[in-house]
Amino acid sequence: MKLGFIGLGIMGKPMAKNLVKAGHDLTVFDFKEDAIKELVADGATEAKTGKEVAEKSDVIFTMVPNSPNVEAALFNEGGVAEGLTAGKTVIDMSSINPLASQGFAKRLAKLNVGFLDAPVSGGEPKAIDGSIAIMVGGDKDLYEKNKDLLEIMGGSVTYVGAVGAGNTTKLANQVIVALNIAAVSEGFALAKKAGLDPKMVFDAIHTGLAGSTVMDAKVPMMIDRNFKPGFRVDLHIKDLQNALDTSHALHVGLPLTAEVMEILQVVKNDGNGSDDHSAIAKFYEKINDLTID
Ligand code: NAD
Repeated sequence: MKLGFIGLGIMGKPMAKNLVKAGHDLTVFDFKEDAIKELVADGATEAKTGKEVAEKSDVIFTMVPNSPNVEAALFNEGGVAEGLTAGKTVIDMSSINPLASQGFAKRLAKLNVGFLDAPVSGGEPKAIDGSIAIMVGGDKDLYEKNKDLLEIMGGSVTYVGAVGAGNTTKLANQVIVALNIAAVSEGFALAKKAGLDPKMVFDAIHTGLAGSTVMDAKVPMMIDRNFKPGFRVDLHIKDLQNALDTSHALHVGLPLTAEVMEILQVVKNDGNGSDDHSAIAKFYEKINDLTID
């Protein structure tokens, strides 16, 4: 099967490498020459435009930051759409606004091109070892046809509904993670101000009802003052903005998401946008004049 991949960043590069490793004929494009060179050294073919990727591929994957980047990759001059012919498939794996995914699907359907939204969860290490979780929206038959390809990149691949459902699922995930980090930060700020040792508090509660994957992953980072990403504050702001845009369009109230969004803005305004999202703790440290360590 001839495959194409656009967007060779933190996540896209290792995902594309896994497709090459599995023996697929892969054509790649990114604005960054270095990333293309690395893939070519692994056996991929370089393209100069998205159009060229689409001309040479049956299935084209995109993995870029946000909705406008996907739109540009697909529909700008020299973009994927110019190289597509009927029967080809585009699979967008970026985390974007689900309403934008639905719009892209409609525009591609006019070319008789199928579209799946298939965002992922799990960071760079999981992209490298092929164990990311992939949530997929779109036509069920199209999903079944491409499931094997997705399984090369993911440890779990789950169909969640019509087009846009993949990104709605991902937004729900991002809302839950952000609120959980804020909840953990709030609890540990209280304990620290009361004079307790955060490490002892962690040992006491992380296996109880308050325990979570977030608590296990992020509290040790807070205690060690290690805010190396991981998942950047800037990207989480992007996801919560997409969650709020979607909730406003659907007339759903997300009051806690709006609150944590403002906390993330303060963290960013303080110069910490490139920190891991566990830096939400820094907001609580600032307003309470303490450090959780
Ligand atoms: P990144 O910024 O590292 O990489 C994006 C890449 O896309 C860059 O190399 C950029 O040059 C390229 N690009 C952008 N627009 C392009 C275009 N029009 N044509 C060609 N190339 C283009 O981002 P990332 O961390 O790999 O994240 C990608 C997506 O995956 C985002 O939506 C992010 O939210 C999501 N995600 C990231 C993580 C993570 O831990 N980093 C985890 C899960 C999901």
